[in-house]
This record gives sequence, structure tokens and C-alpha cells, in this order.
Amino acid sequence: MSGLVSLVGAGPGNAEWLTVLGHRRLSAADVIIYDRLVDPALLSPYTADKINVGQLPYRHKISQAEINELMVNLAKKGQRVVRLKAGDPNVFGRGGEEAQYLKAQHVAFEVVPGLTSAIAGLAAAGIPITSDQATSFHVITGHRRANGQTLDWANIAHQEGTLVFVMGMENLETLTTQLIINGMPRATPAAVVQWATQWRQRAIASDLGHLVNVVQRGKLAAPALIVVGQVVNFMGRLTPKPPLQGLHLLVPYKAGSKLFSALQDEGASVNCFDRRIKNPLPVQLPDLTTGARW
Ligand code: SAH
Repeated sequence: MSGLVSLVGAGPGNAEWLTVLGHRRLSAADVIIYDRLVDPALLSPYTADKINVGQLPYRHKISQAEINELMVNLAKKGQRVVRLKAGDPNVFGRGGEEAQYLKAQHVAFEVVPGLTSAIAGLAAAGIPITSDQATSFHVITGHRRANGQTLDWANIAHQEGTLVFVMGMENLETLTTQLIINGMPRATPAAVVQWATQWRQRAIASDLGHLVNVVQRGKLAAPALIVVGQVVNFMGRLTPKPPLQGLHLLVPYKAGSKLFSALQDEGASVNCFDRRIKNPLPVQLPDLTTGARW
């Protein structure tokens, strides 16, 4: 018997931004293979075996080839595998490559899309990705391409739509400088949104000319979205400020819990723990040096 591999998008992090199908696949999974950007606390309600294959940009904990092999071996044993990725699996998530590999190995698979951070992460900070002044949007990797080519900055700098860079924080200075050198006004609104939708979300707005300084002063770092364009002006006006925003709470898991929804609705990020499971919780503690609330 052959199992099924579901390449599932987790959305930007907050447990309620997962799709209904994603939740169903996670609930039925035998094994969940998840990435670095997926908050492990999101996985608390699910009883499947969990394998962290977190990959750092320059330091691969488990190689892509090993991940591919792991998925195939488990599926061939008849296991239901969820390969859980941040955001949407097909947006800079290697979803296509992994699907191709599974197909070549004759393993049944499906892709379960998720909310990409490029759109949903901006919304969480009060930035609509399009507006009357942005007739298009462009999601660009700020990480140098694997083949060593650099981005076509002249082309990018002349787009009138919203620019969203993912994986761009390490190259923030190059990125802003290149946009300016290639003709984008220094006064163009620009923002950085870190850990969007999660309890540790932080966002700052500035302009292209000052972004690097403002980000350094605010100590914002990856993972973050860099947004450039007029839509950033919405941020100040539309930033949601529910009373419990910034609080991270753990509550016991209970199907259909009203407490969970009530706290989330007031702006808290809520994760559940399962009282039946005795393992220590994989909760990430706040970095007390940044001055962030938790
Ligand atoms: N598949 C993902 C993108 C993977 S690339 C998606 O659709 O969202 C990894 C980059 O995504 C990170 O470096 C960061 O730029 C961005 N990212 C993912 N989740 C994020 C979040 N919650 N907040 C801010 N940026 C995020």
C-alpha cells in the first residue's frame, strides 16, 4: 500500500490562518515534516509524529535530498505524510520541486495551498497589497539566486506596483541602494514586517532612503517582508490594534473551544497544548533584548 504526501501551506504562522483542508490533513497525518518558519506551537493539537527539517539560509539542517527521501520512504510504507511549509508551498517554498520528485518516484501527492506571507503578512500589518495607486504587485526573492545571477534591478525599480521582497533582510542595504540607483525616489514609502500574524509580529514604516537605519535602530531581522510602494501609507491608518495584541497565550486544547476564539478575537496569539501529551512544549521564548512585548 502506498501512502499520500500532502504538501501543505501553513499560512504565515497564526494557527487560525491555516486552511480548513490543511487542518484536516494535519489531523489525519501519521507524520508531519515541518520547516523552520512554522511555529512548532501551531502543531500542538496534532498527534502525528513531528519531524523538524528546518533549513537555515546558509546552513541546511537536513539536505533537500534527505527530505525528499524521507517523504518517499514514509509514503511507501503507507504513511499519510504532511510536508508543512510556511505560507504557500509554491511561493519560494520548493513545492514544485518536491512535487516533481514525488511524481518521479510514483508517490501519490497533492498540494494544499496556504496563505502566502507576501499577501497575508502585509494585511496583518494593515497594508493592502494593491490599491488605487498600485495596479500590480511583485513578489521577489531578495536572496541571491542559486545560479549566482543578480536581480534585474533596472526592471524592478521601474515597476509601478507594490514590491514585496521575501528573504531580503540580509541584503536590505543592497536592495534599497539598488532601487534608488536605478531611479526609484528615496521618498518612496517602504516598510518591514517581521513574524507577521504571530505574537512576536513587529512592523515599521519609513521610506526607501531611511529604511536601513530605521530597521537597524528597531532591531528588526529575518524572517520579514520588505514592502516598497504607496500602499505602505495605509499602514499607519489601518494597523489593527486589538487590546490583547502582542500577548502570546497557551490554553489547553479542546475541540471547538470558545476561549481560544474569544482570545484570538481580542488580538492575542493563542496556541494550544494537549493535556494527553506529556512531552515538553516546543514553545519559543521571547528575545528580551529587543524590547518586544510577548
Ligand atoms: N512560502 C512562503 C515563503 C518562503 S520564503 C510564503 O508563501 O510565505 C521565506 C521568507 O518568507 C522569509 O525569509 C520571509 O521573508 C517570508 N516570511 C514567511 N513567513 C513570514 C512571516 N510570518 N512574517 C514575515 N515574513 C515571513
